[in-house]
Amino acid sequence: MSRMRTWLKTFLLIELLRGMAVTIRQFFAPKVTLNYPEEKAPQSPRFRGLHALRRYPNGQERCIACKMCEAVCPAQAITIDSDVSEDGTRRTTRYDIDLFKCIYCGFCEEACPVDAIVETRIHEYHFENRGENVMTKEKLLAVGDRYEAMIAADKSADAPYR
Ligand code: SF4
Ligand code: SF4
Repeated sequence: MSRMRTWLKTFLLIELLRGMAVTIRQFFAPKVTLNYPEEKAPQSPRFRGLHALRRYPNGQERCIACKMCEAVCPAQAITIDSDVSEDGTRRTTRYDIDLFKCIYCGFCEEACPVDAIVETRIHEYHFENRGENVMTKEKLLAVGDRYEAMIAADKSADAPYR
């Protein structure tokens, strides 16, 4: 009897038709694959991507060279040198982040008392030459200047949960 059933299933292509039914069902089902980069997945305001150093609206650097971020970084990716500036405030003379060492944990952002160092939602970047993995102070400030509107919006969206 079981041999007969097997023969009938084979003769009538039952397994093939079952497989085709799955294919047809999935053909009309909602698609879960995104056509990246034309289509992008939604991002959280807490997304931890490329770093940036921020300024106050008057253009003054937020960073006060307290070195909390350098101390807390588990990957030792941050290197800071500091000095007293002309106006008597403490400022960094060097602020480097080695992105090859960074594990994007966000501890630097959490530790900063003045919201100076942040991780933006930028995740599409690459390096072409040796040494470009080190984000210098100038590069970090440039990212901050360019994306300040997005950074500020993300900070305020996340504020109620802190
Ligand atoms: S995200 Fe983490 S690993 Fe990267 S620089 Fe900040 S503290 Fe260091
Ligand atoms: S980025 Fe923030 S935590 Fe790091 S040295 Fe500057 S003020 Fe301190």
